[in-house]
Amino acid sequence: MTPLYHHLDPLWSRVPAPARAVLEKETIAGLTALRMERVWFGRELLSVYCYAVGDTLVDTGLPCVKRRLVDFAKGAGIRRALVTHHHEDHAGNAGALAREGLEVLTSDTGTQILSKDLPIRFYQHVLWGKAEAAPATALPERIALGPWEAHVIPAAGHAVDQVAFFVPSQGMLFTGDAFVAEKIKVFRKDEDFAETVATLERFLTLDFDVLLCAHRPKEKDGQAAIRAKRDWMREIEGRVNDLRAKGAGVPEIVARLPIRTTNAFYKLTFGDVSTANMVRSILGERFVRPELLGIPKGSQESPSLPCGL
Ligand SMILES: [Zn+2]
Repeated sequence: MTPLYHHLDPLWSRVPAPARAVLEKETIAGLTALRMERVWFGRELLSVYCYAVGDTLVDTGLPCVKRRLVDFAKGAGIRRALVTHHHEDHAGNAGALAREGLEVLTSDTGTQILSKDLPIRFYQHVLWGKAEAAPATALPERIALGPWEAHVIPAAGHAVDQVAFFVPSQGMLFTGDAFVAEKIKVFRKDEDFAETVATLERFLTLDFDVLLCAHRPKEKDGQAAIRAKRDWMREIEGRVNDLRAKGAGVPEIVARLPIRTTNAFYKLTFGDVSTANMVRSILGERFVRPELLGIPKGSQESPSLPCGL
């Protein structure tokens, strides 16, 4: 059965959002970072960064700041965009930048997802706005990132197509949404717990200190932050498995975890973002979004393949 949001997406796509959109330039670890967020009735929602390195953008930001982002890219001499994954706050302007003649690169799987007109849920319209489809090229294992060379690191878990960019010469790791927080509290419905932990373990084999997360960048001690998240996830996994072994169901397990989600916004996701999703993933449940069915995993997302290191 087609989910309701597939029917409602064209409607929400046409309704102008009564929200202000922020795009501000900051400097993080010596890089130009563009911070973007929507402001609804004076309240700032989840902000996201994309990074400009020489002629390259890492991620493309929110679709609701399209004009300003494209103007920035043209003014700054940006020629290509590397996209970590297909979510609207990362690939949001890939289509607009491609139309301006920029090269857009992402993982094998990402190229297939970005080429689609993806239906999104109401909360995604509220937070970010709808991204247009984008033609993209599959990333090689190593690629120029401005003046530096970056290694493309498989980083599935948060999203099936996610990759990270490791710059050995600078000790920098661009992680998309593979980090976000040390004590992660919620999962989207299609996030994969085991793959997320495997991605963090992979990051811990790399020599970096600067963690260029798209939401909470860290100019130093990036390794320690990744290790703290890995340890937290292992702790939660242990608690969930103990409680399940004693016969607890998902609601009881959620209630007994040391996690309290006070953000009322999660209710607006109608279960698409929740602690219960994380518990279900630990217990082995797998969920594929209907709009992504049939898209095979590409080589860059397979943890078993070498990543050029
Ligand atoms: Zn994401």
